[in-house]
Amino acid sequence: MVETIAFIGLGNMGGPMAANLVKAGYPVRGFDLAEPARDAATASGITLCDSAAQTLTGASIVITMLPAGHHVLSVWSDIIKNVDKGTLMIDCSTIDVDSARNCHALANRASCLSLDAPVSGGTAGASAGTLTFMVGGEEDALTRGRAVLESMGRRVVHCGSAGAGQAAKICNNMILGITMAGVCEAFVLGEKLGLSHQALFDVASTSSGQCWAISTNCPVPGPVPTSPANRDYKPGFAAALMLKDMRLSQEAAKSTGATTALGAHATQLYELFDQLGHGGEDFSSIINHMRHQSA
Ligand code: NAD
Repeated sequence: MVETIAFIGLGNMGGPMAANLVKAGYPVRGFDLAEPARDAATASGITLCDSAAQTLTGASIVITMLPAGHHVLSVWSDIIKNVDKGTLMIDCSTIDVDSARNCHALANRASCLSLDAPVSGGTAGASAGTLTFMVGGEEDALTRGRAVLESMGRRVVHCGSAGAGQAAKICNNMILGITMAGVCEAFVLGEKLGLSHQALFDVASTSSGQCWAISTNCPVPGPVPTSPANRDYKPGFAAALMLKDMRLSQEAAKSTGATTALGAHATQLYELFDQLGHGGEDFSSIINHMRHQSA
């Protein structure tokens, strides 16, 4: 029997993810606080509900895709008393590890299965159904949820027990924030040395400087035609979201005692960039700020 899915949080990511579940044949009951998200969901064939609690009727799987840890904990705490035993609860938002573990504990106390399953791939991946899921939770929960995750993504990586998906996401994005800052600095230094963008790209993208920040999201226009630099830094991955993830990495570093000096410095760079009003641009546009600072 096809399982009915309750989907709470139908924004830029959740909307297209829920739409892909409908395309895969799942009945989806959705809720979002915002009118535009609600309108788009109706157009995608999602059965729109008036509250999070209403989405639960007949649902055996619940998915949340919300901004931050306090939103997720608040929604899970509200609905958990109305969720049937054995329901699979999945949170796909990017949140702090402690909140994720608290969500697992809530589900466990209600005799439900649970997964933290944050994603990589952005809004384009959400629409195309090509997301990567980084999953934390027990094997039996993942076995039950795998087909649903695969209807929204291309790769599902089991990272470990409760909270491990969020831990992997936070560490991955700290690498991304640092490498993008490094790639931008290298292009600015190259400009000062009279090196063409193409020459630096041709060398670094095929040698030891190779990373996603240069080969896919190259911060200068030209070498990678699909990178945001070619469309005036329209995201892509907005600098404000990068800052959110960098802050999560620094909270995690603080609470665990890990030394992340480069992560801390990169967080400060994105904080300043955001304060200067660039939070809505792709994070690679931090190169313009660095160029300005160097002038
Ligand atoms: P978004 O702001 O577009 O969507 C969040 C939605 O949650 C909004 O529509 C909002 O109205 C809704 N919402 C908030 N509180 C609610 C509540 N109590 N009940 C019901 N709905 C509620 O954000 P997004 O870009 O879709 O991101 C969602 C999550 O995915 C975030 O944690 C983000 O960090 C993560 N993420 C985003 C991207 C990206 O490129 N946008 C990529 C990877 C991960």
